[in-house]
Amino acid sequence: MAASENKLIIAILIGAVAGIISGCLYGSKMVAVAWIGDLFLDALKMMIVPLIIAAVISGVTSLGDIRKLGKVGGMTLLYYAATTAIAVLIGLFVVNLIQPGVGVGQATSELTEQITNKSDTGFVEIIRSLISPNVISAAANMQLLPLIVFSLLFAAALTTIGDKNVTIIKFFDGLNEVMMKLVIWVMVFAPVGIFALIAGKIGSAGGAQAIQQELLAVGSYCFTVILGLSIHFIVLFTILIVFSKKGRDYLFKLLRALITAFGTASSSATLPLTMECALEAGVDKRSIKFVLPIGATINMDGTALYESVAVMFIAQAYGISMGLGEQAIIFVTATLAAIGAAGIPQAGLVTMLIVLEAVNLPAEGIGLILAVDWFLDRFRTTVNVWGDSVGAAVIESYLPKENT
Ligand code: ASP
Repeated sequence: MAASENKLIIAILIGAVAGIISGCLYGSKMVAVAWIGDLFLDALKMMIVPLIIAAVISGVTSLGDIRKLGKVGGMTLLYYAATTAIAVLIGLFVVNLIQPGVGVGQATSELTEQITNKSDTGFVEIIRSLISPNVISAAANMQLLPLIVFSLLFAAALTTIGDKNVTIIKFFDGLNEVMMKLVIWVMVFAPVGIFALIAGKIGSAGGAQAIQQELLAVGSYCFTVILGLSIHFIVLFTILIVFSKKGRDYLFKLLRALITAFGTASSSATLPLTMECALEAGVDKRSIKFVLPIGATINMDGTALYESVAVMFIAQAYGISMGLGEQAIIFVTATLAAIGAAGIPQAGLVTMLIVLEAVNLPAEGIGLILAVDWFLDRFRTTVNVWGDSVGAAVIESYLPKENT
């Protein structure tokens, strides 16, 4: 590994730790630096739309014909589905074991109005969100799912028009390279950006004492979520070792992306860094371009696990027992709700309504976990990004040989 990479990883780690310490020590005073974090976040977001379009089109066309795309696509979807399902099962296991909700009181309804008022959370809405009537407005509004669908279709069609596709493919290959260069430039600011993001967030949450109080109120719930996420992190690591050519240092190389995920609570904003880290870790470019953009948008293991724990926690708090049948419904709906969640902060809290509705739990229950959600979001986003990164390494082994 290049010495400069090592230095950057250490600098980012120091930035994150310094952010936590100064947020705790100086509390709301650190809100003053939040704009620096937002600037970094905006620089990352600025790259997402061109990067996703260029990466998906260049990634798909580099796979060759549509049949190869079908095979790799099938494997990728299988990976996403299997790991998300494992995540939900782990969530259900730990929440049944620890039972964090038993004895916790019920929630008041005012708190949750901001969440429950959102109406775009049904299954039909998720399916409809795959296609946008206007790709330009989808790009302008950062609706990534329809952009990915468009890019996939566009690239698939490109592979069917013979030599006429050469210039267009070269254009998107070039665009992808340029965007990756920009990522390297922006990454230099990551230590300061992550410091400011974390310090500013802890500051706006009221500093160490306020956070401690919030966490203690539902401490056993937070513990359950974080325990489940840690177990899944290790399961993904095992999958990496068993099904890919990568080993321990892959985790180290991905650290920059994982810390950024923790700092930003957004897997979409982290995507440019995830791609760059995977590239530096030697993952096949085709796998990176195909698996990571789609994964950042639909593959959310951490979110799925969190949703299953949160819903069971609410049921326990309300004293409503969830039998095997209900837990099977939670299993299916939490998986789908995680797919529907955007890679932005606290999106999982909104799509969780689908799961609550499916098992007839009161939406107000969300009020119980609202205060700590920003905190847990960071852990689940880190696992979301780790799940995508492991996916890129695993799918690499199933790619067709280049130029065949
Ligand atoms: N913040 C998560 C992400 O970007 C989504 C969520 O669970 O809220 O991956």
